[in-house]
Amino acid sequence: MAEKMLKFISQSKAMPDKRKAKDRVADFGEIYADFNLQEAESQASRCSQCGVPFCQVNCPLHNNIPDWLMLTAENRMQEAYELSSATNTFPEICGRICPQDRLCEGNCVIEKGFESVTIGAVEKYITETAFEEGWVEPIKVTGERDQSVGIIGAGPAGLAAADILRRKGYQVVVYDRYDRVGGLLIYGIPGFKLEKEIVERRAELLEKGGIQFQLNCEIGRDVTFEELQARHDAVLIATGVYKARDIKLPGIGLNGVVPALDYLTASNRKSLGDNVADFENGLLNAAGKNVVVIGGGDTAMDCVRTAIRQEAKSVTCLYRRDRANMPGSQREVENAEEEGVNFQWLSAPHALLGDNDVRGVRARRIHLGQPDETGRQVPQIIDGSDFDIDADLVIKALGFDPEELPAMFEQKDLAVSRWGTVQIDWKTMMTQIPGVFAAGDIVRGASLVVWGIRDGRDAAEQIDAFIQAELRGETRQAS
Ligand code: FAD
Ligand code: SF4
Ligand code: SF4
Repeated sequence: MAEKMLKFISQSKAMPDKRKAKDRVADFGEIYADFNLQEAESQASRCSQCGVPFCQVNCPLHNNIPDWLMLTAENRMQEAYELSSATNTFPEICGRICPQDRLCEGNCVIEKGFESVTIGAVEKYITETAFEEGWVEPIKVTGERDQSVGIIGAGPAGLAAADILRRKGYQVVVYDRYDRVGGLLIYGIPGFKLEKEIVERRAELLEKGGIQFQLNCEIGRDVTFEELQARHDAVLIATGVYKARDIKLPGIGLNGVVPALDYLTASNRKSLGDNVADFENGLLNAAGKNVVVIGGGDTAMDCVRTAIRQEAKSVTCLYRRDRANMPGSQREVENAEEEGVNFQWLSAPHALLGDNDVRGVRARRIHLGQPDETGRQVPQIIDGSDFDIDADLVIKALGFDPEELPAMFEQKDLAVSRWGTVQIDWKTMMTQIPGVFAAGDIVRGASLVVWGIRDGRDAAEQIDAFIQAELRGETRQAS
């Protein structure tokens, strides 16, 4: 083992500098600075090069983390980049927005008492260095193939699949109903976590590598699913999940009560320079308003922090469990608190108040009771605990379900689960329809970017195997 490693005893954990809350709320720029070479080397050198690296086991892409940490510690950056990009299509994106505390870093087994290695920030550093040095190049196809694949959805799952298939020489067309490439990377996740230029830089590279994009094209409306099947040798469904979950409450139909993704999309479009009517007319703009966000996941955290940056008068997050039981990343909660968000833990909305426009939220306090069959404590309302919060904008961040794809695509044979997610054979990634594959959130339900990438890469390998089997005259059916 290189003598540069195992420095966790003498070298403490450090994250890249975080901008001060008062400065960062003034814009939508990312809040973490980049490591410099010396910081990246010294943080990478803390790794103890475990025989069984739990960091790698718990990374959905099984990135070869110990090896690229060692290469970084030895300043062999090009090799580090080659290794890290061999398993991850978008390492600069995962390095920024993976919930590392639940994945690689959360499972780093440096001896008890020492904090984990800073893996995500080093992954970002490696890839940003590679971009600066010109090592990240568009795909160069050595042998073009005649066969083509149609991919529905330009989010991380669709793009990761497109990248692998194009490298293998296939003609790849990605269809998306949005006008930009990236799915939730571009219109869901705010710039303070992932700047838009990072997504656009990747989209340009993919296009230069010969992947074709047909944007503003909704499959099922502008092009039928049959037409798509006729155009391509295989089809990948990577459409994500977009049906916002709702809540039944008196006053839920009042003006000023909006779904989270409408709100975030308007803000992201604004940052991208678009003219957004519902932002300009105030409907999806928090400026000067008392804002209440209902929900406790990462989407809720993105909404509260966006509202702070839009100069809301006050921002309150209403969540029915306590801080320890929040589904959102603890790091994001901490960031939100630093930025001035008021958390009302153990509180649930009871009614929305107002005549035409929302003027407030009546909420009740919650007590966490005995655990149910899932092991989570059941929230119970405390009688007589009503309290009111002023609100001119209420944002519903309650999660997402899949749209009804069999109806949308007029494909009654497309089997879906009782939650509406597309069913696949996990070995072949194929749906019940031969030659039609699926990947990402539409299969897993609302998940993570890194899982989308993993699924997209796996699906691409299976699509290749399917097409090659077809060419040999063998047929492969979903089991
Ligand atoms: P998507 O990214 O949703 O992409 C699907 C694409 O399909 C979209 O572009 C859509 O326009 C297109 N599409 C859908 N139907 C059609 C059709 N009929 N025709 C043509 N195109 C169609 N994950 C993290 O790891 N870290 C985070 O910090 C994080 N933050 C998040 C914040 C928010 C607000 C949200 C909503 C999600 C966040 N996630 C995060 C989750 C992550 O964004 C998703 O898990 C991931 O984007 C799923 O990738 P996907 O490719 O399956 O779907
Ligand atoms: Fe960690 Fe995500 Fe990178 Fe894997 S892809 S090493 S989980 S930051
Ligand atoms: Fe290094 Fe931690 Fe991974 Fe072990 S678990 S190889 S110490 S990063």
